Amino acid sequence: MFDALAERLEDAWKKLRGQDKISQSNIQEALKEVRRALISADVNLQVVKGFVAEVEKKALGAEVISGVNPGQQFIKIVYDELVKVMGESNIPLAKASTPPTVILMAGLQGTGKTTATAKLALFLRKEKRTCLMVATDVYRPAAIDQLITLGQQIEVPVFEMGTDADPVEIARLGVEKAKELGVDTVIIDTAGRLQIDQDMMGELARIKATVKPDDTLLVVDAMTGQEAATLTHTFHEQIGITGAILTKLDGDTRGGAALSVRQVSGQPIKFVGVGEKVEALQPFYPERMASRILN
Ligand code: GDP
Repeated sequence: MFDALAERLEDAWKKLRGQDKISQSNIQEALKEVRRALISADVNLQVVKGFVAEVEKKALGAEVISGVNPGQQFIKIVYDELVKVMGESNIPLAKASTPPTVILMAGLQGTGKTTATAKLALFLRKEKRTCLMVATDVYRPAAIDQLITLGQQIEVPVFEMGTDADPVEIARLGVEKAKELGVDTVIIDTAGRLQIDQDMMGELARIKATVKPDDTLLVVDAMTGQEAATLTHTFHEQIGITGAILTKLDGDTRGGAALSVRQVSGQPIKFVGVGEKVEALQPFYPERMASRILN
C-alpha cells in the first residue's frame, strides 16, 4: 500500500527505527514527506497545513507497537486520518420523505455538471428510481440540447422551456412537473460560468430558495487541483452545498481536490465521475481516495 510514499519515507523511517516513541524531533522528516505527497496530489496548501498538524498531534507520543515498523505505523496514522477527514463511509444522496426528492446541481461551466446530471439520473434509474431532469441553462442553448440528448440516451424525461424563460421559474415548474409525473427524484441542471460570477451565484441562490432542494451538489473538476478549495469555499459560503461530485478522476490527477473540498466545506463527496460516458459514475469511497492521494 502507498509504495511511492513508503519509499520516499524510507529515510525518515530509518530514524524512527529502534525508538519506542514517535517524538517531535524524529517525526519532522516523515511529516515533511507527507506534506510533499499531499502537495503533489494537488491538495490545497492551507488544507495540507491543517492536515499535517493533525497527523503530528495524533502521531506524537503514539507507542510504537513492537514488531511493527514505526514507518508503517506512521503511514497508518496518516491513512486513517485521511479516511476520517474524507468522511469514513459513503454518504448516499438525500431522499425526501415526501417525493419528489429535489437535487440541485451547481458548478462552473465545463466541470461536467450536465454530464453528471445524466449520470446521476441513470444511477438512480438502475436503483429502480424514477427521475426528471430539468434544464435551466438558458444562456447556452447547447446545454439544453445536450441534456435532451442525454435524456433520450438514458430514457429519462427532460423538462425545459427553451432559452426565453426565467431559470428560477423553469426550476419551480420542473418540480411541479415531477409531482405531476409522479417521479421520485428531480435533478436540476443549472447554468455555469467559466469563473465565479455574482449573477450566476445570485441565480443559483434564488433557484435554491424557490425549490428548497434536499441535496445541493457542487460539481468539481478534479483536475482543477489547488483551485478546488477556493471554488468550494465560495459556493458553500454563498449557496450552501450539502455534497459534491468530483469529476474527471479518470484523468491523471491523484485526487487531492477531494480532501480540499471536504475540508473546506465539511460536506461529503458523494460521487466521482470517471469518464465521459454516462455510466462512468461511482459512489465515493474515502478509503480508495486516501490510497490514491497517498500513492
Ligand atoms: P458542464 O459545462 O459543467 O455542464 O460540463 P459538461 O457536462 O458539458 O462536460 C464538459 C466536458 O467534460 C465534456 O466533454 C464531458 O464529456 C467531459 N466530462 C464530464 N465528466 C467527465 C469525467 O468524469 N471524465 C472525463 N474524462 N470527462 C468528463
